[in-house]
Amino acid sequence: SRRPLIAGNWKMNGLRADADLLVSGLAARYKALSAPAFDMLLCPPATLVATVAAQAAGSGLKVGGQDCHRNEKGAHTGDISAWMLRDIGAGYVIVGHSERRQDHAETNAVVKDKAQAAQAAGLVAVICIGETEAERDRGETLRVVADQVRGSMPAGSTAENTVLAYEPVWAIGTGRTPTPDDVAEVHAEIRKVAAEVLGSAAQQLKILYGGSVKPSNAMEFLGLTDVDGALVGGASLKVDDFWAIAEAV
Ligand code: 13P
Repeated sequence: SRRPLIAGNWKMNGLRADADLLVSGLAARYKALSAPAFDMLLCPPATLVATVAAQAAGSGLKVGGQDCHRNEKGAHTGDISAWMLRDIGAGYVIVGHSERRQDHAETNAVVKDKAQAAQAAGLVAVICIGETEAERDRGETLRVVADQVRGSMPAGSTAENTVLAYEPVWAIGTGRTPTPDDVAEVHAEIRKVAAEVLGSAAQQLKILYGGSVKPSNAMEFLGLTDVDGALVGGASLKVDDFWAIAEAV
């Protein structure tokens, strides 16, 4: 059985005072659970990973970055490696978020290299995939997502070092979401294609849904068979909202 993962992607949001409030609020609530039925992951901007990791220590909350370089070190001004994230307390890193695929022209091949670097550094790679609105309108969703899984998931992936996150690009930050039936269909396809790399271990792979998840719709997605958690943007910046989403598990 797959333990649900509720992940918050803060994107380019958060100063130290914001992190203080968010982490202290969430850590207190998470610690108060005697046997939490879910893992909770916070992915702040790189500037806050060390702070959040220190503040979350002992709470059970997990911490990750939002991107990493494909190399371990070297002449790449401004970039951050997976080993550096690991060094400051991260256990996870998001790779291939659609905003990075768009803003930084990251291809599946780049995302695969980043995921491989993350895995090699001992991090869990949270690999993001998802179709654009035009692709959905053309009826290409399943093909696009299958191509992204094949193109972005390294050969060395396991159900332990990899999480997939299905985030339809048109659902991110828009308040629009696919129907639960649509999400169920896509997640089943993702698990099927992931089995080409993972074999029967694909049954243990966590596949998250992301895109306009909020307290009022969390249950309809988290209740689906192949949905093992959520990757939350905007609503992860408020303690009450993010916690309410987790409670829908
Ligand atoms: P929103 O929850 O703000 O739609 O963002 C989703 C997302 O991109 C998480 O990675």
